[in-house]
Amino acid sequence: MQKNSSIYVAGHKGLVGSAIVRRLLDLGYTNLILRNRRELDLLCQKAVADFFSEHRPEYVFLAAAKVGGIMSNKTHKADFIYENLQIQNNIIHNAAICGISKLLFLGSSCIYPRDCPQPMREDYLLTGSLEKTNDAYAVAKIAGIKMCQSYNEQYNTNFISVMPTNLYGINDNFDIENGHVLPSLIRKFYLAKINEQPCVELWGTGAPLREFLYVDDLADACVYLMNNYAQSSIVNIGTGEEISIKDLAMLIRDIVDYRGEIIWNSSRPDGTPRKLLDVSKLHVLGWQHRVTLRVGLKTTYTWFLQNQETLRQ
Ligand code: GDP
Repeated sequence: MQKNSSIYVAGHKGLVGSAIVRRLLDLGYTNLILRNRRELDLLCQKAVADFFSEHRPEYVFLAAAKVGGIMSNKTHKADFIYENLQIQNNIIHNAAICGISKLLFLGSSCIYPRDCPQPMREDYLLTGSLEKTNDAYAVAKIAGIKMCQSYNEQYNTNFISVMPTNLYGINDNFDIENGHVLPSLIRKFYLAKINEQPCVELWGTGAPLREFLYVDDLADACVYLMNNYAQSSIVNIGTGEEISIKDLAMLIRDIVDYRGEIIWNSSRPDGTPRKLLDVSKLHVLGWQHRVTLRVGLKTTYTWFLQNQETLRQ
């Protein structure tokens, strides 16, 4: 990308898209094309086609998606599969028609089989059954990968796909019922602290292991790969480090400075037991994460405290 290349960041209001915009601006990219939901409905085929033919971006970061935590994925499967397929179909297809230079598609680590050997290498894709709590979302993301690869094969496009691990950071969704574990726990512990509640209820057993990447690191990796990677095969983006949900909860309790008890409600799902990415391909390509979990958590908590009024629900 040149500093004056026209770059469309789809989903720029979200956790990932907003971080990509911050990174691009920091690096001196000046020609960003951004449209919010009201200005461009990504579910609408004609609106997306008109947008591409009018603006003809050279580069596209496809960070627009319907995302959510374990309960949201489990209870809104139709919305997850429909909206994600629709958004990515519209953008990828029109990017090809319009002849853009390059597109980066964001997938997810839930595309890998539930009982995948750990850490999960890129070539384990489609070697087993998916985790049931988020299979609709995963199928949509797998379709996005195949779509990028198919367009590259048939139409000689330059569409790359990256698979981030569990992300967190500023601009996240801190909703207690629908958010991912990390922002939900920040809010739960914070509310328990200010309301002086004796205990906080968390979901599942606390035994599952997860890997967490700070979203500014992810954004940096995406810009790096846009500039330095041009193959159809997918690339994992993570830290290569994991933590149990129980230990994560203790860490967040500590940062929020909540002194009460944690109660585990095992009637809520655990999800997949382990989800650790093999990041050796990314390291060979020349990129490594920088932000530690403790530092990323502190930054996120500070932002949460300063943005109470405008938090997404
Ligand atoms: P996942 O990584 O796709 O399973 O999605 P989540 O980030 O929503 O959940 C990760 C893990 O955290 C699961 O094992 C959940 O059971 C566990 N967890 C514990 N308490 C909570 C909570 O309050 N909210 C969420 N979203 N997950 C929780």
